[in-house]
Amino acid sequence: MVGTSCLRLSGIARMAGEMLAIDVPPTYPDRETETVWLRTRIAPLDVLEDGRLMARAAGVRLRLAVVDDLGGVAGLYVPGLVVLGLADCARIADQIWSTRVRAPTALDRVLTPSRLITRPHLVRAVRRRILAHELGHAMVAQGCDWTPCEDEELSADYLAGRISAALAWSLDLGQVIFEVVGCSGHGCTHPEPAFRAHAYATGYSEQLMSQHIAA
Ligand SMILES: [Zn+2]
Repeated sequence: MVGTSCLRLSGIARMAGEMLAIDVPPTYPDRETETVWLRTRIAPLDVLEDGRLMARAAGVRLRLAVVDDLGGVAGLYVPGLVVLGLADCARIADQIWSTRVRAPTALDRVLTPSRLITRPHLVRAVRRRILAHELGHAMVAQGCDWTPCEDEELSADYLAGRISAALAWSLDLGQVIFEVVGCSGHGCTHPEPAFRAHAYATGYSEQLMSQHIAA
C-alpha cells in the first residue's frame, strides 16, 4: 500500500533534486573531477521497530526556496515551505570530503563502484539528502504515517531514506551524510550520528522492499 502524499513528494524531490544538481560551487577546482572512494563505517544498530507501514492520501502544496546560507541549519521546513541553504550543504560536503574519502584502489573500482564519487557529485548528494529530510518533515505534516520512528528528526531521516530509494540515490552516500549531520554531546537539537544513519538506511531498505512487493 503506497500513500499518494508520499509519492507526490517523491516527485517533488526528483524535480528539485535535478534542479539542485546544477551550479555546484568550485570549492576544490584542482580536485573538482577527481574520483575518490567513500569510506563508510556505519555502526550497526537495531533501534527501530520493523513493520508494514501505510500512508494516508493527502494533497500536497509545497514551495522550495534555495538561499545562500542558512547559518548552519542546512535546511528547514515550515508548513508549505522548504528552505535549503547552499553554503550549509557545501560545509557538510567539505566535512565529508576532508574526513571520509580516500584515493580509490583498483579493487574499489571493481568491487564497490557505487562508492566512487567526485566533489560535484558529493555536493549534489548533500543537497538532495537535506532536501529529502525536509520533505520528510513535510510528509509527516501532511499525514503520511509510513514512519516507525517516535522522534521527529529520525522520522524525517527515515522518510528521506524512502525518497532516496524511490529515486535510486546512493544508500552509502546517504548514510554517511546523515552520520555527519548527526549531533553528539551536550545541547544537541538533533539525534546522534549512528541513529540518523540507521533511520535513513531503514527507510531506504523498507522502500526497496515495498517496491519489490509491488513489482
Ligand atoms: Zn529536521
